[in-house]
Order: sequence, then structure tokens, then C-alpha cells
Amino acid sequence: MDITLALLKPHVVRNVYAFQQIKQIIHQNFTVLHSKEVHITKQLSEHFYAEHKGKFFYNRLVTFMGSGPCHAFILQSKDSIAKWRELMGPTKVYKAVYSHPDCIRGLYGLSDTRNACHGSDSEESVAREISIIFPELDKNRLSAVDS
Ligand code: ATP
Ligand code: MG
Repeated sequence: MDITLALLKPHVVRNVYAFQQIKQIIHQNFTVLHSKEVHITKQLSEHFYAEHKGKFFYNRLVTFMGSGPCHAFILQSKDSIAKWRELMGPTKVYKAVYSHPDCIRGLYGLSDTRNACHGSDSEESVAREISIIFPELDKNRLSAVDS
């Protein structure tokens, strides 16, 4: 099972054009197994981003993630983790704009925090993040329900 978790952050979910364009990229590159709007409370966000606790941007990040609805996807493809991270581009938007202008963060990121999207970085992160964002799913029984 080659899946990853993608999250579109609040500012792109609010922007109808950006949201549609990113969904198009997703559907061109992956099978969407599950997709839903998700309200990430500060508590959920703190848990999700626990690895960054103590960093200078942590409070800014968890506050931002709770500032409006996000959209979460479970994506399936060959090499899905690396593929989605490549489509997202570099974490830092100012770098993305210059080095990868066509990547999602280059096109729709606003700042290093408001960088449009999230993608799991390992199989362990996929399992952990799906259990946080899609607690209702049985991870052993993920199946194609949406495309
Ligand atoms: P993500 O985990 O969201 O897919 P990433 O793996 O590319 O992104 P991480 O280092 O895990 O980057 O950072 C998690 C998130 O924290 C980033 O997506 C960004 O929103 C925020 N962030 C990271 N570095 C900075 C920074 N230097 N300044 C502000 N925000 C940052
Ligand atoms: Mg990360």
C-alpha cells in the first residue's frame, strides 16, 4: 500500500481558484482514497506538529492551522510520499518561488508558515498522521472510495 497524507492549509482552502487548481494536480497524479474538510483545533494541531514544539515558528504554525478549515486527502500512487513532496516543492516559499516556480508552494504559498500544503515525510509519519486526521478509518482497510 503506497499512500501518503496531504493537507491543504486554510488560506488555499479559502481561495476557490487555488483550491481547484491544487485538486486538479492531485487528481492528475494520484488515486484519492479519502478526502474531507477538517477543522484542526489548536490541540489537534499541537499533537500533529509535536516534532516542532519549541521551534520559533511552532506557535505561529499551530495557530495558523486552526484559523480555518483545512482539506485532507489520503493519496495513492507509486512513490506517493516522494511524489507529493516533489509536487509541493521546498518548505520555504521564497526559495520555492525562485528554484521551483511551478510547484504548489511556489504558486500558492504566501509565507514560510502559510506554505499552502503539508505532506507526510515517511511511512511512519503517514501512519501517525492518518490516525490523527482520519481517526475514523481502519488503517488496514483503506480502499478506493473517492476519485
Ligand atoms: P510539512 O511537514 O508541512 O509537509 P515540511 O516537511 O516541508 O512541511 P517541516 O520542517 O516539517 O517542513 O515544517 C512543518 C511546517 O512548519 C512547514 O510546512 C511550515 O508551515 C512550518 N515551517 C517550517 N519551517 C519554518 C520556518 N523557518 N518559518 C516559518 N514556518 C516554518
Ligand atoms: Mg514535515
